Amino acid sequence: MQNSIRRTKIVSTLGPSTDDDAVLKKIIKLGTNALRLNFSHGSAQDHIDRVKKIRLIEKDLNCFVALIGDLQGPKIRISSFSAKKVFLSAGDDFLLDLNVLKKQGNKHVVGFSYKHLPKEVSPSDILLLDDGKIQLQVIKTNNTKIFTKVVIGGYLSDNKGLNKLGGGLSASALTKKDELDIKLAAKLKVDYLAVSFPRSGEDLKKARLLMRQSGSRAKIIAKIERAEAISSDTIIKNLILESDGIMIARGDLGVEIGDHRLIGIQKKLIKMARQFNRTVITATQMMESMITNPFPTRAEVMDVANAVLDGTDAVMLSAETASGNFPEITVQAMSKICLGAEKVPSVNISKHRINKTFSSVSETISMTAMYAANHLTNVSAVILARTSHKIALLASRITSGLPIFYLSSSTKQLRLSALYRGIVPVYLKKQNTDLNTTDSAIQLLKNKKFLKKHDFIIAIESSDKNNLIIPNMCRIVQIL
Ligand code: PEP
Repeated sequence: MQNSIRRTKIVSTLGPSTDDDAVLKKIIKLGTNALRLNFSHGSAQDHIDRVKKIRLIEKDLNCFVALIGDLQGPKIRISSFSAKKVFLSAGDDFLLDLNVLKKQGNKHVVGFSYKHLPKEVSPSDILLLDDGKIQLQVIKTNNTKIFTKVVIGGYLSDNKGLNKLGGGLSASALTKKDELDIKLAAKLKVDYLAVSFPRSGEDLKKARLLMRQSGSRAKIIAKIERAEAISSDTIIKNLILESDGIMIARGDLGVEIGDHRLIGIQKKLIKMARQFNRTVITATQMMESMITNPFPTRAEVMDVANAVLDGTDAVMLSAETASGNFPEITVQAMSKICLGAEKVPSVNISKHRINKTFSSVSETISMTAMYAANHLTNVSAVILARTSHKIALLASRITSGLPIFYLSSSTKQLRLSALYRGIVPVYLKKQNTDLNTTDSAIQLLKNKKFLKKHDFIIAIESSDKNNLIIPNMCRIVQIL
């Protein structure tokens, strides 16, 4: 049995650096399992062109890549400067003024995008610009202006993002641009739609409804990036339950709550998402130095490894692949780190939901198979043939050192499962033979050299040939 199948998945963000066909092909070949279309950048035509290329490469490489459409959301931004950027010094007065037009900003004043902002901030609030690199303290406000003093200075350039320390800016989660991008995402047949800055499950319900109305059944990912989103376990639970997966968007979240609080929150969000049978992506600055360097820092190696040990399904690359100088070797380096971290014994032992009772047959069978696989010596794989990707998701919630082969004739389902930790999606043609589906899967996996003679596998099956979707059996098979 191959023991170098990576279990943790890699999400790479598309951008100018991956627009070269050879680069795109290489980042997929070297281990990208999901590609993120960032709707904050690029035109609709850019996204259409990229998706066309991805699906051709996927066919060529005979692999399955999930597509994630990521909405821009209500990111509040300053407007632009006549000189494109200005230098602010600590102690300077700086005015944010709704009436200042684009390209009219200077080192004393700049416009901004969100008209309710002056009413939503108060004297002594700290405003964070450009992911917190520049900090302003609010002195006073009126209907259209926010008077501030620079606390931390530096260069400030056009259209940088603006957050409030501690959160609390209540811009609605879905903007007009997001509504248009949802239609585009549906046209592009994305597998997942990531919703930026949701405040509660209601925002996710609305996004799901708009997606359905546009003819897509894409799964919904809640980006956890507002202070309010993590303000209580009830709110976190609500966001998780209304989504199909979450993304720990450490960039904006770190800016709003302070980086020191991310440590515990990352662990908590990963744990809760897994407990509620949802998938989880850990994102932002994981290999940041590789935007300009051909190797990661030790700290980045440990950060990626830490997310793997926390149990994340996927680790994400943003600018590293979208606009970095070394997209291919960044994916390769990240893959190697994940494989290294997965060798730590603690990630192969699972107590997932061990004290819980289950209300669904699917979950009971999935847990039975995975506990058996983890406890019987000599088992080399778990096989799920022709069931729904939902079974793959349930099985993958149990931490295990074993690969879980998910075989299906549906590319849609295989692409969805590409994001689940430990799942290896494999295409299995529909057959008109009487051969049991697990047996045909074993034959295929033997041909692909994933399995060898005498290996033991554990299969999840259905006793009813007409209902393979809800399995009710678990079988141990020795490969002949
Ligand atoms: C983040 O803030 O960490 C994040 C993933 O969001 P963005 O879409 O801005 O990259």
